[in-house]
Amino acid sequence: MKHLIIIGNGIAGITTARHVRQQDSRVGITVISAESEHFYSRTALMYIYMGHMTYAHTKPYEDGFWAKNRIDLLQGYVEQVDTSTKRIRLADGKWLDYDVLVVATGSVSTTFDWPGLTASGVQGLYGLPDLERMEQFTTGIDRAVVVGGGLIGVELAEMLRSRHIAVTMLVRDPHYWSSTLPAEEGKLIGRHLLRHGIDLRLETELKEILAWRGPAGPRSADASGRVRAVVTKAGEEIPCQFVGLGIGVTPNVAFLKNSGIELGKGVLVNEYFETNVADVYAIGDCNEFRQPIVGTDGALRKPIEQIWYTSRMHGETLARTICGSRTAYRPGVFFNSAKFFDIEYQTYGTLNAQLTDDEQTYYWEHPAGEQCLRINYRKTDQSVVGIHAFGLRLRQAVCEHWIQQRTPVENVLSQFRQADFNPEFSEFYTDQLAGHTPAGSPNRRKGWFRRLFSTTH
Ligand SMILES: Cc1cc2nc3c(=O)[nH]c(=O)nc-3n(C[C@H](O)[C@H](O)[C@H](O)COP(=O)(O)OP(=O)(O)OC[C@H]3O[C@@H](n4cnc5c(N)ncnc54)[C@H](O)[C@@H]3O)c2cc1C
Repeated sequence: MKHLIIIGNGIAGITTARHVRQQDSRVGITVISAESEHFYSRTALMYIYMGHMTYAHTKPYEDGFWAKNRIDLLQGYVEQVDTSTKRIRLADGKWLDYDVLVVATGSVSTTFDWPGLTASGVQGLYGLPDLERMEQFTTGIDRAVVVGGGLIGVELAEMLRSRHIAVTMLVRDPHYWSSTLPAEEGKLIGRHLLRHGIDLRLETELKEILAWRGPAGPRSADASGRVRAVVTKAGEEIPCQFVGLGIGVTPNVAFLKNSGIELGKGVLVNEYFETNVADVYAIGDCNEFRQPIVGTDGALRKPIEQIWYTSRMHGETLARTICGSRTAYRPGVFFNSAKFFDIEYQTYGTLNAQLTDDEQTYYWEHPAGEQCLRINYRKTDQSVVGIHAFGLRLRQAVCEHWIQQRTPVENVLSQFRQADFNPEFSEFYTDQLAGHTPAGSPNRRKGWFRRLFSTTH
């Protein structure tokens, strides 16, 4: 292989480039990306808007790193991939040859066919251009609507509240993020949003977006289709000057439609990230596994996982294959974390919104309603399959070990201090926890939390 082209300089593409360079000092590496010249941390976008970070802070590497490692960066948009001649065409008409091509083009914000969607001041949050637009359309405004109850919806709400903009949040389901969270956790976050002044409307769906039309209103932008309100399916009109869409993301693969590379929702790949075309691979948010991937803990992973650390693992694994050691993707115990305003969230293993027939759950919530812990385990052998923590910080290695080793739930609870990152928390709350009967837990387990937080390391 003489020339590796990677489309996309996100965490997936950049990890591949770095790891290939570590293993192969001779191959030419070109990373082409449309959004920015350099790799930056997409997960930190909200902090730029909130003034906690600058764009420069979000770049994990010095700008000189790339030249030093002979990784060529090219800012441009790839419009066409011609797999028969092994070439790609950029938007400026330039063609480039590849020996191996990696598609790492991430996602795009999902939208629906709502009337009025094209009004200005209506947008998702995915990249730097969105941040610029948001800056432009939220300066000086006082009312916004966020549509969607997921992670990006909450980020949008927090960003807007940081500028004292009133936020109404429309969530279709009976509780927040019901596709992922069991009802107790969804309600906990819902209460937290209310405490932060969010006007949270559950079971409320968007029907239409209204824009200013006709003669110019008091603001010059009003004549040009600027959003003025949303209408819910129940017929309520909610005035606003900005609409943030947080209804999910979709693999960014539309530009490959006529390339001969097989697409499902994402670029279809096998466990080696190989597409149907020789020497073309796809990783990160934009790929979709044809067959389910099984983790080292035996759990089935979703065919599309749009998660930062998953994309990084894809890049690391693919680099080995590209450098001659064909390696199947075999992820460990699933892990993710996020923050909902002040509440930190960690999830390990398999913990779905609904229990399966073979699962039982243990749920504890602090009476103040801002911290909770859920442990799901198998009915058959009591082994732990998943752990959720809200407002408690747990040690990743310990939780993963328990799940990987199929540790019985009683052992997990009796050793729980090993996972607790904030022992001062456990000491402070021991009494309340011990006196609390967690919802959904069998009565015989009432005393577990006394033991849990009084056992020494
Ligand atoms: C606001 C926000 C917050 C998030 N927070 C979290 C979090 O807290 N935890 C977590 O695990 N995940 C989070 N995610 C998801 C995480 O950021 C993604 O899973 C991850 O960035 C995917 O990496 P990637 O390399 O696959 O793609 P991306 O980071 O999307 O990079 C792909 C790049 O390819 C470029 N590109 C696309 N098409 C072309 C083309 N045709 N030509 C040239 N370039 C192209 C794009 O411009 C983009 O820069 C968040 C995502 C968003 C949007």
